[in-house]
Amino acid sequence: PVVRPQPESEAELAFEGALRPRSLAEFVGQTKVRGQLQLLLTAATLQQRTPDHILLAGPPGLGKTTLAMIVAHEGDRPLRMSSGPAIQHAGDLAALLSSLTPGEVLFIDEIHRMARSAEEMLYLAMEDFRIDIMVGKGAGATSIPLDLAPFTLVGATTRSGLLPNPLRDRFGFTAHLEFYDDGELEEVLRRAAGKLGLDIPAPALAEIAGRSRGTPRIANRLLRRVRDYALVHRTEPDVAVVGAALELYDVDAHGLDRLDRAVLDAIVTRFDGGPVGLTTLAAAVGEEADTIESVVEPFLVRIGMVTRTPRGRVATRTAWQHLGVARPSTGAL
Ligand code: ADP
Repeated sequence: PVVRPQPESEAELAFEGALRPRSLAEFVGQTKVRGQLQLLLTAATLQQRTPDHILLAGPPGLGKTTLAMIVAHEGDRPLRMSSGPAIQHAGDLAALLSSLTPGEVLFIDEIHRMARSAEEMLYLAMEDFRIDIMVGKGAGATSIPLDLAPFTLVGATTRSGLLPNPLRDRFGFTAHLEFYDDGELEEVLRRAAGKLGLDIPAPALAEIAGRSRGTPRIANRLLRRVRDYALVHRTEPDVAVVGAALELYDVDAHGLDRLDRAVLDAIVTRFDGGPVGLTTLAAAVGEEADTIESVVEPFLVRIGMVTRTPRGRVATRTAWQHLGVARPSTGAL
C-alpha cells in the first residue's frame, strides 16, 4: 500500500512541535474559526468559568491539535491529551476524567473512534461534570456518582458524520476546518522558514505552497524535504530545487501524492471514470475505505478532480486531463 508521510519518526514529531503556533494570533488562516474561538475564550475568562466544549472537524494536518494546545495556552490551563483508540472501555475514560484538575483542557483526538460505553459516560460528564461508576454485576449492581472537576473537552475528528447526535449536541461550539489557500500556506511556510532560520526565496515558498494539498502539515514536511535536498546538493533552495526535491518524493505539480494518483488512476482506468463505490475503490488501491474517505477524497473533491454522486465516485474531465488519459466521448462526466 502507498503511505502518506505521517509523523512517524521522533525527528518529524519534534520538527512539527517546533513549528506549532502557540497563540491564536500566530495561527494562520481559518479567520472565521479563529474569531469564534477568541470570543468563546474571552467570554469564559470574563465570566471566570471553563470555556465551552469544542469540537474540531476536518481532514488531518489542518491544525486541530494545534488549536487544542492554543485553547489551553491562551487560557493558561493545563492540557491533557488522549485519543479515541486509547479509550476502549468506559473505565479508561473514568480514570482519565477523574484525574483532571479544575479548568484542565482535555483533548481527545479521533474522538469518533472511542468505545460506545465511554461515549455514553461522556454525555453526563460534559453536561454536569459528573459520572456514574457502576460497581458489581447483575441484580446487585449499583452506580456510584462521582463529581468531576470542571473541564473543557476539545474533541477532534476527521469524520464528524460518525459522531452520534447526543455527543455532537453536547459541544458548545463546532468548527469545521477548511483546506488552506496558497497564500495562507505561503504564510505558514514563511513563518516556518523563519523559525528554522532558512533563507528561501519567495517564489520557492510559493511553489511549495502550491504543492501542499491545502494542508499546513504537508507544507512543513515538504519544506523539510526541500531544505534537506538543498543541503545535500549544496545548492540554494530555488524553484528548480523545489521541483526536483518534490519529484523525488512523488509529489506532482498539483501536490497530489502517490495515493491520490492511485485513487484517480483507479477511477479512470479501472472503472471507466466511475461511478464507483467507496469500498470497491478502496479495495482496488489496497487502502482502508476510511483513509480514502477522510484523507484522500476531501482534497480531490476540493480541487474538482472527483465528484461524489449517489451511485459512487466519478472522475471529472480535469482528472482525465491530469492523468493524460483520453476520455471516451460518452459515459463519464
Ligand atoms: P491536525 O491535528 O489537524 O492533524 P496539527 O494541529 O497537528 O493538525 O497540525 C499539523 C502541523 O501543521 C503543526 O505542526 C503545525 O505546525 C502546522 N499548522 C497547522 N495549522 C496551522 C496554522 N493555521 N498555522 C500555522 N501552522 C499550522
